[in-house]
Amino acid sequence: MSSSERYARQIRLPQIGPSGQERLQQSRVALIGLGALGSVSADALCRAGVGTLVLIDRDIVELSNLQRQTLYTQADAERGELKALAAAERLGAINPEVKLEVHPDEVHCGNAASLLDGCDLLLDGSDNFAVRYLLNDYAVVHQVPFVYAGVVATYGMSGAVLPGQACLRCLWPEPPQLGETETCSTAGVLGPAVAVVAGWASSLAMRALLEPDFVAEFTSLDPWHSRVHHMRGVSDPACPCCQEHDHPWLEGRRDAPTAEAACAGNAVRLPGAAIPDLEAVARLLEGAVEKLQCTHSFLRFEVGEHEVLLFASGHRLVRGTSDPARARSVLAATIGH
Ligand SMILES: [Zn+2]
Repeated sequence: MSSSERYARQIRLPQIGPSGQERLQQSRVALIGLGALGSVSADALCRAGVGTLVLIDRDIVELSNLQRQTLYTQADAERGELKALAAAERLGAINPEVKLEVHPDEVHCGNAASLLDGCDLLLDGSDNFAVRYLLNDYAVVHQVPFVYAGVVATYGMSGAVLPGQACLRCLWPEPPQLGETETCSTAGVLGPAVAVVAGWASSLAMRALLEPDFVAEFTSLDPWHSRVHHMRGVSDPACPCCQEHDHPWLEGRRDAPTAEAACAGNAVRLPGAAIPDLEAVARLLEGAVEKLQCTHSFLRFEVGEHEVLLFASGHRLVRGTSDPARARSVLAATIGH
């Protein structure tokens, strides 16, 4: 099978053409998170013939993923396969011309350089704000295009941070506090909404690789209510990240995941930002978790075989595992942090 036959329909596009196809094949793209958004984006970029895909995900495939995470099968869920490995198997079968680098890990300030250095683009499929702000720091410091995306319920958003243009912190100087945003566990998520947002993000990624001077807009999309809204990303002259050169997530001074989690028996204790309103968090979790209990100083609930305690002072305790990555997955899937 000839390579030009595989890509014939996209080479016919004047926006791509033979030279654009060659550039895609020389590109190296990191996919950070291979859940719902990452599944769709990885599939699109693999089929488009991006030369190297760096696949980064710490989680295993679970039955509740299959409604929207299109790379995985029932057999993957029954085996409890690592998403990075299951994704690589599927993508390798789709297009063996693409080189795949597999990292069943989470990105944090300690390993960002080894995972991301040498990439031409970062594509966000993460499930939490700490990783998104860490990637923003990295993208600004290393002048690498970064496409971000998020989806919950029936709506989502996507945009791109391109060298010299507005960054994530120009638009949102601080990530939302715990309790201010819904997650897929608390609000649910529509599979086609994921496909729409991830399709948008994949298209931004191809544009950033082929026409890096395009002016990226921030776009919110809600296919269920037929709503699309664009916002021009305007650089903030007081932006702490791209103007003041402060990169606390990349330097490990903010709540980016770190390797330092304290394990105590069959439990993991994790640091975190103080939670000003535990009751707001409890309201979001109602119905999504079991045995929810809220006091003035902590919030307690159960999810699957895990018991979670969130303390107003900030630290979190996840019982039922001694694996810090698993504990962070449980927290990300329920509270999004
Ligand atoms: Zn900025």
